[in-house]
Amino acid sequence: MFCSLLVCKLTLRPSPAFESMQKKDVKKRIKLLIKAIDKHRYEYHVLNKQSISDEALDSLKHELAQLEEQYPEFAAKNSPTQRVAGNALTKFVKVVHEVVQYSFYDIFSPEELEQWQERNLRYLEKQGGLRSTFEYICELKIDGLHVILTYEHGSLQLGATRGDGKVGEDVTQNVKTIESIPLVIPLKKKMLIEGEIFMSKKSFAALNKKQADEGKELFANPRNTAAGAVRQLDPQLVANRKLDCFVYDISGGEVMQKTQKHELTQLHTLGFKVNKHYRLCKTLHEVVDFWKHWQTAKKREDYWIDGVVVKVNEVSLQKQLGVVGKAPRWAIAFKFPAEQKTTVVEDVRFQVGRTGALTPVAHLAPVNIVGSTVSRATLHNMDEIQRLGLKIGDSVVLQKAGDIIPDIVTVLTELRTGNEKDIQTPKKCPICGFEVFQKPDEVALYCSNLKCYAQEKEKIIHFVSNKGFDIVGMGKRVVEIFLDEGIISDVADIFLLKIGDIASLKGFGEKSAQKLIDSIARAQKISLPRFLYSLGIRHVGEQTAYALAHAFGTLERVTTADLEHLRSVPDVGKVVAASIHNFFLQKENRELLKNLQKSGVVILEEMQPLRSEMFGKSFVLTGTLEKLTRDQASAEIRARGGTVGSSLSSKTDYLVVGNDPGSKFDKAQQLGVKILNEQAFFEILNSGA
Ligand code: ZN
Repeated sequence: MFCSLLVCKLTLRPSPAFESMQKKDVKKRIKLLIKAIDKHRYEYHVLNKQSISDEALDSLKHELAQLEEQYPEFAAKNSPTQRVAGNALTKFVKVVHEVVQYSFYDIFSPEELEQWQERNLRYLEKQGGLRSTFEYICELKIDGLHVILTYEHGSLQLGATRGDGKVGEDVTQNVKTIESIPLVIPLKKKMLIEGEIFMSKKSFAALNKKQADEGKELFANPRNTAAGAVRQLDPQLVANRKLDCFVYDISGGEVMQKTQKHELTQLHTLGFKVNKHYRLCKTLHEVVDFWKHWQTAKKREDYWIDGVVVKVNEVSLQKQLGVVGKAPRWAIAFKFPAEQKTTVVEDVRFQVGRTGALTPVAHLAPVNIVGSTVSRATLHNMDEIQRLGLKIGDSVVLQKAGDIIPDIVTVLTELRTGNEKDIQTPKKCPICGFEVFQKPDEVALYCSNLKCYAQEKEKIIHFVSNKGFDIVGMGKRVVEIFLDEGIISDVADIFLLKIGDIASLKGFGEKSAQKLIDSIARAQKISLPRFLYSLGIRHVGEQTAYALAHAFGTLERVTTADLEHLRSVPDVGKVVAASIHNFFLQKENRELLKNLQKSGVVILEEMQPLRSEMFGKSFVLTGTLEKLTRDQASAEIRARGGTVGSSLSSKTDYLVVGNDPGSKFDKAQQLGVKILNEQAFFEILNSGA
C-alpha cells in the first residue's frame, strides 16, 4: 500500500504508452488517476476496506508519478504523489492559529460530571437562558496529538500542532503522509478542522518488533512516539511511522453546523475518518454508562483511549457557555480512572532478551493500577536509571497508560531514609556469567554469550514440560513472554511469580494470571524422578531419572554420589555417569538447587514401595489403552521401578497390548515375551501398592 514514491522517481523510464498520448488526454488521465488513487486510499485507510491489491494501487501511483514527471505543467500540488515529498526541513515554521486552541478540563468521577452540569446550568441562568438539562455528544478521547487542518478551495493547505494554543508549528509536510487525511475534499469552502493524530496498536507493535529485531531500544509509549514522529523534520521518516488520524470538530471557516452531531456527520460525508463510537446522550446517566462501558471496551479497539470527551451538542449553547480560563465550559474530558500510583522499588534485576541485551527491571511492592496488579516495571537501560536517579528502596510514581507496560515516571526523593542502595552496572551476565559488553553508540549492555537467551529459554521449557514440573498453562509462548518481559530469568524465578507480575502482561488478565499462579503452586511439590528429569542434565531422560531416584532415594544422595556409585545404577553408563557427576559439581547448578528450595520447591523423596511386581521388570507398550495415555502408563511403570522400552527383544519381560496392536504382538509371541492386556496390566500395576 505504501509505494515509496521517492524510489519510483529514481527508476522512471518513459513508457511507450504515453508517447502516443495526446496532451489533453494526458491531462485527463492524470485527473482520473488522482481520483482513482484517492478512492482506493479512502476505502482502505478510512473505511478499512480494500478493493484492489497493494501492488495494483502502487502501479497506479507509479504511472501517475511518471506522467507528472513528464508533464510537470499538469502536476497538482495535492496529488497523491505529493504525500511523501519534499526535503527534510531544518526547522518548523510557527503559525498563529485563527481559532485559539483550548484544552479541556479533566474530570475523573460521575460526581464531578454532575457538578460540571450544575455549573453550566447556573451560568446560563445568570445569562437569562433557563434550562434544566443539556443534550450531550460523547466521543472517545483518543490518546494522541492534537492537529488543526485548514482546507481552502477543497484542498489541504495547512496542518498545524496546537503549541501553546495561540501559536503552533506548521507540520503540513508530515500531516500529508497520513493516508487517512484527505488532501482534497468535495467542498470548496474554507474549513478549520480539528483532529487527533495517533499510532495504532498494530503499528506500534510492528514498530517495536522492528526495533527489537534490529537490537534497538523499544518505544515505551505510543502517544509520545506519534508526537515525536509528527515533529520529525524528514517526511520520509514520518511516513515510515504509519500514523493515523481521527477528526472530530469543525472549529472555524465558512461552514457552520447547528450541532456537534451535524459536524461529525458532515466530516464523515466529506471523506474524513471520524470515530464511529460517538453517542448522543440525553441524560448524565447515559453519559456515565457510556464512560463505564468504554473503560473495558477500549481494549478491543486498535488505538489507545484514555477517556471520553463530553460536549454540549448544540453549537449555539456552546457559544453562550463560552470559555473560562484556558478551557471551554461546554466540553469536558471525562478521563478513565487514575493511572498513576506510588509504590516502592524492592529490587532491580537484569534480564537478558532475545538480542542478548540486558534490561534492568524494577521489582515493586505490588500495587493495583487500572484494575490490574503490577509488581514489575521495566527500566529500559542504565541511562534511564540515571535519568530517574533511581536507587533500590526508593518510593516512586508508577504510571500505566492503557494496555502499555507500566513505567516509573518519578522518584520521590523526599521519602528517602538513607538506606537506599545504588544500582550497579553489571559486569557479568546474570544468567550465564559471561562478560557483558557495550556496542558503540548504544546504551544497552549485551551478554557476550550469543546463545544465552536461547539456552535459557530451552532450559525453562524443559523444566516446566509435562514430564518435568508439569506446569499447566506455561507453554513455550508463555515462557518467551515471561523472559521478554523480564519477569523470570531462570527456573527458580517461576516459583516467586505473583499475580501482579503476570496480570498486566499482554494476553493475560487477573483471572488467567490467577489460574497460572495456582498451577505453579500445584507443581511446587514434585517427585524426585520428575525433579531430576526437569533439571535437563545431559543424557538424563525420563527413564534414567527414575533409575537414579530408585537407586539413591534422595536428592542429597544423587548429588553427592561418586562416579563409581553412579555407574552401578542400571541404565547408567560411563558417559551418563560423568555427565551427572559434572552437573552437580558445577557451582551455578548447586546455586540453582539452593534457589529452588528457597523459592518453595519441595521434593517428595519417598518412592513407591519396592515390593511392586513391576520393580526391575522391562515393559514395551503397543496399541491404545483405554484408561491411560501411553505417557501416563509409562510414568506408572517407572514409578514402580520398572523400565519402559520402545523395541522388543528377548530380554523384554512384558508387552502391554491395547487396542489395535501393531506387529509387536506377533513378535512378542515369537520371542516368548509375556503379553498383558489392559486388565492384566492394571492388576500388576495395583499389586502391592
Ligand atoms: Zn548470558
